[in-house]
Amino acid sequence: MRNKIKQLQQQAETLEPPAEERDKLTRKVFQYSERFLRNLDDKKAYVQPDKSGNSFQTFSEESQAIDELLTNLKKDVDTEGLNPASPGHLAYIPGGGIYPAALSDYLAAVTNRYAGVAFAGPGAVRLENECIRWLCDLTGYPASSGGNLTSSGSMANLIALVNARDCSGIVSRSFDKTVIYTTRQVHHSLMKAVKFAGLADAHLRIIEMDNRFRMKPEALDEQINNDRRKGLKPLVIFASAGTTDAGAVDPLQQIGEIAQINEVWFHVDAAYGGMFLLTKHGKKIMKGIKLADSVTIDPHKGLFLPYGTGALLVKDVKKLYDSQHMAANYLQDTYQKGDDLSPADLSPELSKHFRGLRMWLPLKLFGIASFRAALNEKLMLARYFYNEIQKVENIETGPEPQLSITYFRYNPPGGNANEFNKKLIDEIHQDGRVFLSSTEIDKKVYIRLAVLSFRTHLKTIDLAISVLKEKIAKLTGQ
Ligand SMILES: *Cc1c(COP(=O)(O)O)cnc(C)c1O
Repeated sequence: MRNKIKQLQQQAETLEPPAEERDKLTRKVFQYSERFLRNLDDKKAYVQPDKSGNSFQTFSEESQAIDELLTNLKKDVDTEGLNPASPGHLAYIPGGGIYPAALSDYLAAVTNRYAGVAFAGPGAVRLENECIRWLCDLTGYPASSGGNLTSSGSMANLIALVNARDCSGIVSRSFDKTVIYTTRQVHHSLMKAVKFAGLADAHLRIIEMDNRFRMKPEALDEQINNDRRKGLKPLVIFASAGTTDAGAVDPLQQIGEIAQINEVWFHVDAAYGGMFLLTKHGKKIMKGIKLADSVTIDPHKGLFLPYGTGALLVKDVKKLYDSQHMAANYLQDTYQKGDDLSPADLSPELSKHFRGLRMWLPLKLFGIASFRAALNEKLMLARYFYNEIQKVENIETGPEPQLSITYFRYNPPGGNANEFNKKLIDEIHQDGRVFLSSTEIDKKVYIRLAVLSFRTHLKTIDLAISVLKEKIAKLTGQ
C-alpha cells in the first residue's frame, strides 16, 4: 500500500511545479498580459463574432504546453466580442480592471486565504470589513451598519430583498398581501430577486416618474396610502441611484422620509451610481441615501475593479445577521464571542473568493484622490459629449446627464427615426472602434453613451463623436 501511495504521489506532485517551472509559467502569463495591455489602444472595443466557432478541445488525460493554451486564449476568448478593457467601451455600464486588482487576485489565489469566517481567516475578514466600513461611511451610515462584499450587484439586490422580507415578519402565506414599490427604470435584477425571494405573488406598483425618469414622491405616498386602506402591507421601496438606462437618480431624501413614516423597508440600488459619492456632485444628487435601510454598490463599476465585486450595505447590520446567519454542527468551533462579523453570517456564501483584497490593495496603493479624480473626469466627459453632440444637425438628446450616462437619437428628415437609429448602432458595432448600445425609452429608440471605464479619456469621447458623424453621413448618403 505504501508503495502504491508513493507511486500516486509522484504523479500528483506535478500539481506543485518546482520554482523554476513556476517562474517560467509566470513569465509567460506576464508576457501575455503585457502584450494585451500595450496593444489596447490599437485594438477595437468590439469585434463582431465569427460564427465558425472556436477550437476548444475537451480535457484530456495528458498535459498541454502553456504556449498552446495562451494562443488558445488569445484566439478564442480575447479577440471577439466586446473588449471590456478597451477605453472605447461606452455601452451598458463599462467595467473596470485596474492592474493592482489583478495582482491582488493573484495573491489571493496563491495564499488562498479563507475569507468566509473570522475564526479561520481573521485578517482576511477584518480586511473585507474595513472595505465595508469605508463604503458605509461614504454612504453616511452609522456605526451599527455593516454588510457584505458580494460577487455582483444582482446578488446584493437579492440579499437586500430577502433581508427586507425577513424583517417584515410577514409569513409566506400572506405574501400576496404585500406590496413592492418601484419605477419602470428599475434594474431587472430586482425583478429577478422578487422571483427568487418567493415574492412573485406580491403586488408590484410602478410609480410614476417625472420627465427625467425620477420617481415622483407624491405618487409614491399616495399609492402607499391607497394600499394601506385596502388592507395591503407595503413591504419594500426600490429606488435607484443611477438607473442603468438613463442614469437617473430618484429623490432619495423625500422617498426616505416617506419610507420612515410608513415603516417600509427602503432599498437603494446604487450599483452604478454609488461610487460617485466620492464626488461633490454625487453627494449632492444622492442626498438622503443614508435614510435607506439597505444600499447596493458595485465596486466593479465605479471603483474600476474587475468583474465579481459587488457590495451590500445594511444600516442595521444585526438585521442582516438575523436574516442570513445559520448555525451548522460541523462549524461549531468557528463561533467565538468577540470575533469580527463574518461574511458567511451575512450572505448565502460560505467558501468565498477573498474579494476584499482586490478592493483594499488598489485603494491603499493609489489613494482615494485618484479614484475621485477619475470619477469627476467621467462626469465631465459625459457632459462634454452631451454638449458636443447637440451641435450635430438633427440630433435630439435626452435630458442633461445626472451622472455619466447620456442618450440621443438622430432624427432623419422625413425618415423613420427608430429604424435609422437601429441601423446607426449596427454601423457603430461593425466599425468597432467605440462600442455604444441602444435602448428604447417610451417606444423611441435611443443610442446610449455611458462613461465609466477608467481608461476612457477626452480622446475616446472625441473619437466617439467623429465615428458618429461619419456613420450618420454614410447612412444619409452625404
Ligand atoms: C449593473 C447594475 C445592476 C446589476 O449588477 P451586476 O453587478 O451586473 O449583477 C443592478 N442595478 C443597477 C442600477 C446596475 O447598474
